Amino acid sequence: MAGETATAAGRDFIRDIIDADLASGRTRQVVTRFPPEPNGYLHIGHAKAIALNFGIAQEYGGRCHLRFDDTNPAKEEQEYIDAIKRDVRWLGYDWGPHLYHASDYFEQLYEWAEHLIRAGKAYVDDLSPAEMRAMRGTLTEPGRNSPYRERSVEENLDLFRRMRAGEFPNGARVLRAKIDIASGNLNLRDPVLYRILHTAHPRTGDKWCIYPSYDFAHGQSDAIEGVTHSLCTLEFEDHRPLYDWLIDNLPVPSRPRQYEFARLNINYTVLSKRFLTELVRGNHVSGWDDPRMPTLAGLRRRGVPPAAIRDFARRVGAARANSLVDVAMFEHAVREHLNKSAMRRMAVLRPLKLTITNYPSGQIEELDAVNNPEDPAAGARRIKFGSELYIEQEDFSEDPPPKFFRLAPGREVRLRFAYLVTCRDVVKNGAGEVSELICTYDPASRGGNAPDGRKVRATLHWVAAADSLPAEIRLYNPLFTRPDPGAGGDFFADLNPHSLETLTGRVEPALAMAAIGDAVQFERQGYFCLDPDSRPDRLVFNRTVGLRVSWAKARGAG
Ligand code: ATP
Ligand code: MG
Repeated sequence: MAGETATAAGRDFIRDIIDADLASGRTRQVVTRFPPEPNGYLHIGHAKAIALNFGIAQEYGGRCHLRFDDTNPAKEEQEYIDAIKRDVRWLGYDWGPHLYHASDYFEQLYEWAEHLIRAGKAYVDDLSPAEMRAMRGTLTEPGRNSPYRERSVEENLDLFRRMRAGEFPNGARVLRAKIDIASGNLNLRDPVLYRILHTAHPRTGDKWCIYPSYDFAHGQSDAIEGVTHSLCTLEFEDHRPLYDWLIDNLPVPSRPRQYEFARLNINYTVLSKRFLTELVRGNHVSGWDDPRMPTLAGLRRRGVPPAAIRDFARRVGAARANSLVDVAMFEHAVREHLNKSAMRRMAVLRPLKLTITNYPSGQIEELDAVNNPEDPAAGARRIKFGSELYIEQEDFSEDPPPKFFRLAPGREVRLRFAYLVTCRDVVKNGAGEVSELICTYDPASRGGNAPDGRKVRATLHWVAAADSLPAEIRLYNPLFTRPDPGAGGDFFADLNPHSLETLTGRVEPALAMAAIGDAVQFERQGYFCLDPDSRPDRLVFNRTVGLRVSWAKARGAG
């Protein structure tokens, strides 16, 4: 399908608007921005917004700014700023010299707040937060004016300057826009523009003890930077009249416009920084980069290529209607990319010993194994074969059910790239479990072909006991047991207790050469990558995704 390539960028209502703006001359150069609040790590929902903003800038020969919306020092940290930059770059986007912070504009924003006061369009309010809430009214009830609403310009200026100077404690006063307390839009009922917060800021330190609200900072920052199309998610639709009111009432240098698109929602997945923060803080996962997390850091560690995320975002597209995307669609994009690039290797996740009695004990021979059937240029490697091997426990059945074509007593199967083997006997341990298979091989079947053309249905992967390496294998299942986590009222109750399964497997020695993050396909098992927890004597692999939709199995417990 054509959705693969960079040229096949989807059409959407935003690109239609931009086309019209360019045609009418209203826009000369397209300028967008991605405005994260540094209060958590980016997740795949943000990737949609990043791909949209940076993608549009690329397509239209414009530019996209990275702007930290750092107006709430109580929740924001430098760690998040660093992580966000790393993740945007990893996704494949470059803001060039256009790195900004809302805090860069604090002085200008302050001046504009005074401008509103002088124009009689803002006032200092002494109501407590609770009183203000009570008087704000509801969707069905108009609000009531604050008794402080008619303060004189002089008094407002004096109080606002003293707020800035640090004379009042947190919460004592706010600056509000004077718009319309009876408006049908709650955002226009004299919204708060500045609040007092005696908290140091990661960038401005102790310089400020009043901070602008999101609404007061955002549109004005857009205007300062010359952003033409300010794209945000639908929850800001009701803020747009305020966005426009502020732009219309301030001497800003440009006229940005806000457009809203639907958030990305994915089933079995939670995309909320607040909740993801709780998962990390509560140690429900190993950190922001736990491979089960929908964060970009988690997806990277899991082995997801950034190009797969970009393709996924492109296919999801930008629309105004909210929708729920099936996580299978994401996995499909991941598989598609890895299928082309990942080297094939053999690894046994749950080893079962297999001994070939008619193969000279101690003899080792080398066989050729293709690296990637999708990519002839990837070549071949040599693998060692001997009398002692491991196969997958689940590839043997002592009492095979119908349609089980793999190994069973008396049955012959093909060992990939090697020989045909027949199971002659089984050895059991004290618990009565099969611990070893006693087999013979057909010396005339080198390469896996039956000399007489007899039919052998199954081909199994394997590793040699002599040179395979033990490895920790981490299998990831969905973090949640229900498609709509939290819908029952408690996110934590929906956590999947089997989201991580850890196995000790054996892998072929070529994998010792893998670099952290390298994608490989374990034949018949899925795509894996080397985890940063690996050490020279202990390889750790993460399963990025299975080979096919193994959802029916993976969605349920264990
Ligand atoms: P969260 O709800 O996870 O806390 P947020 O919207 O508060 O996210 P911001 O840092 O404010 O996080 O978001 C930066 C940008 O990313 C905003 O423009 C926001 O609209 C967009 N964004 C956030 N979540 C999604 C999502 N699920 N799908 C698409 N865009 C998103
Ligand atoms: Mg936000």
